[in-house]
Amino acid sequence: MTRDLLRLAQEAYEALAEADPAADPSEPGIAPGLAWQVHLQKGCRFLAAARHCLMKGPRPGFYTGAMELAFCSMERTLQAHLMHREGYRGEDFRAHLVAFRESGTRGILEPDVARALEDLWVDFRNENYYREGIPGRSSADRIVALASELHLLVARSRPAYRGVCSCPKGARV
Ligand SMILES: [Zn+2]
Repeated sequence: MTRDLLRLAQEAYEALAEADPAADPSEPGIAPGLAWQVHLQKGCRFLAAARHCLMKGPRPGFYTGAMELAFCSMERTLQAHLMHREGYRGEDFRAHLVAFRESGTRGILEPDVARALEDLWVDFRNENYYREGIPGRSSADRIVALASELHLLVARSRPAYRGVCSCPKGARV
């Protein structure tokens, strides 16, 4: 009964293992490069996807997806900044909250700001992702607005990030 799943899983595994970036068009906005560059660009793209999920207009949006992507953007953006500014490496981020904690420790975020972001992650990201929480439009809007502000702050903080961050200038939710 699950044989089709096995075949699809094997095909997906082979496609991922054999992926040739030159032959398989990659996602616009994410170019191969240094680890911090890829992380920052993923932060841009998660944020863009979160905004897309909100789908402002007559149709309801994908609020659970928007919230998850906004949290992903915040995590990836801070990781990129820690890599470039403080020399962290990908393997230093073995748990989701490391980027938030270390940003507080290293003076990227004030300690109370870092704690507030950690609290949001623990109390709401985990509730909505792992448990039964169901975010509505206004809570998704607020998290995406927060992720947008954090991303723009980081993206504007160093000259090296210009041209790496692919977000429209001044874009906000
Ligand atoms: Zn960006």
